[in-house]
Amino acid sequence: MEGYGLQRRILVTGGAGFLGSHLCEALLARGNEVLCVDNFFTGALDHVTRLRSHPRFELMRHDITFPLYVETDQIYNLACPASPMHYQFDPVQTTKVSVHGSINMLGLAKRVKAPILQASTSEVYGDPAEHPQREGYWGHVNPIGPRSCYDEGKRCAETLFFDYRRQHGVRIKVARIFNTYGPHMHPNDGRVVSNFIVQALRGRPITLFGDGTQTRSFCYVADLIDGLMRLMDTPDDFTGPVNLGNPTELTMRELAQRIIALTGSRSPIEYRPLPADDPRQRQPDITLARSALGWEPRVGLDEGLRRTIDYFDGLLRQPEPVLIA
Ligand code: NAD
Ligand code: UDP
Ligand code: UDP
Repeated sequence: MEGYGLQRRILVTGGAGFLGSHLCEALLARGNEVLCVDNFFTGALDHVTRLRSHPRFELMRHDITFPLYVETDQIYNLACPASPMHYQFDPVQTTKVSVHGSINMLGLAKRVKAPILQASTSEVYGDPAEHPQREGYWGHVNPIGPRSCYDEGKRCAETLFFDYRRQHGVRIKVARIFNTYGPHMHPNDGRVVSNFIVQALRGRPITLFGDGTQTRSFCYVADLIDGLMRLMDTPDDFTGPVNLGNPTELTMRELAQRIIALTGSRSPIEYRPLPADDPRQRQPDITLARSALGWEPRVGLDEGLRRTIDYFDGLLRQPEPVLIA
C-alpha cells in the first residue's frame, strides 16, 4: 500500500485476540511496526507467540479502561470480548471497555493526532427489522437485556467516535463487523462456528440453539482483515460506518449440516433452548464497502470452513488439548 513508510507505528488494542492477532500479523507483513496492547481477558499469548520474536513487534499488557500514554501513528481499537459467553461473563466490564476504553483511545488519538479505527459490530442493528442491513438502518436493540452490555456499549462507542470527530476533529473510521470466523478462534468461547467444528471433530452432539432457522452470514478472517486495512487507508473524509461481512446467508441448521459433511463427522444434532434476544436474521449489505473500499470477500464458506477445520484439528491433536472442556 502506498504512503506507508516502514517505520509507521501502529497500535492494535485487543491484538492478542482472534481478529487482533491476524491484524498484527498482516501489519507486520506489510512492513509496519506494531504495538499490541491487550489485557489477555480473552486473548491468548499463544496467538502472538510467533510474533514476539519479530523485531518490529512489541507486546504490552494493559487494560484500556485505564489511560494509556504511548506514541503511535495509527490506532486500531479492537479490545472487547466478542463472544456472547465472554461478554456476558462480566457485563459491566464489557460496557466499560467500549465506553471508558474508547474514551481513552480517542483521547490518545486526539493527543498524538493519529487516525483511529473502531471495531464496531453488526450487533448495533440488534434483532434487525430491516433485511439485509444497510448502514443507514438505526437498529432494533434491547437496552436492558443480557446482550445489551455489548450492543449498547458498541453503539455508545460509535457515538463517542463521531463526537470526537465533530468536537475535536479526530480522524475516525468505524467498521461494522459481521460474524467472522477462522483460525485463532477460541475453541471454548461458545461461538457457533468454533462450537460446531470442535463438537464435530470430537464426535460430540452438535448443539443447535432454538429450531436452527435463525440466520447469520459468516466472513473468513483474512477477508475481514483486508477490509479493516483498506478502511484505515481511506481518505480522512471517509469515516464509515461501513459494513464488513460476507453476504452469503445461511441458517444455523444448514451450518451444522455443512460442518458435519466437511468433517465427515457422525455427530448427531442436539436441540437446545434459544438464548434471550438472539437475533433472528443477519446479512450485511456491502454496497458501501464495495464502492468506497473496493472490497468484497473472496473466500467462500466451504473453503473458509475447511481451513478452520484444519486449524482446530491440529489444535485438538496437540498432546495437551489445552482450553477444550
Ligand atoms: P476476542 O475476544 O478474540 O479478542 C478481543 C481481545 O481484546 C482479546 O485479546 C482480549 O483479551 C482483549 N481485551 C478485552 N478487554 C480488554 C481491555 N479492557 N483492555 C485490553 N484488551 C482487552 O474477539 P475478536 O473476535 O477478536 O473481536 C475483536 C473485535 O472485533 C472486538 O471489538 C469485537 O467486538 C469486534 N467484532 C468481532 C466480530 C467477530 O465475529 N469476531 C464481529 C463483530 C465485531
Ligand atoms: N488519554 C489517554 N492517553 C492519551 C491522552 C488521553 O489515555 O495519550 C485519556 C485520558 O485519561 C482522558 C481520556 O483519554 O481521560 C480522554 O481524553 P480527552 O483529551 O478527550 O479528555 P480530557 O483529558 O480532557 O478528560
Ligand atoms: N448457536 C448455536 N449453537 C451454539 C452456539 C451458537 O445454535 O453452540 C447459535 C446462536 O444461538 C446464534 C448463532 O448460532 O443464533 C450465532 O451465535 P454466535 O454466538 O456465534 O454469534 P452471535 O449470536 O453473536 O451472532
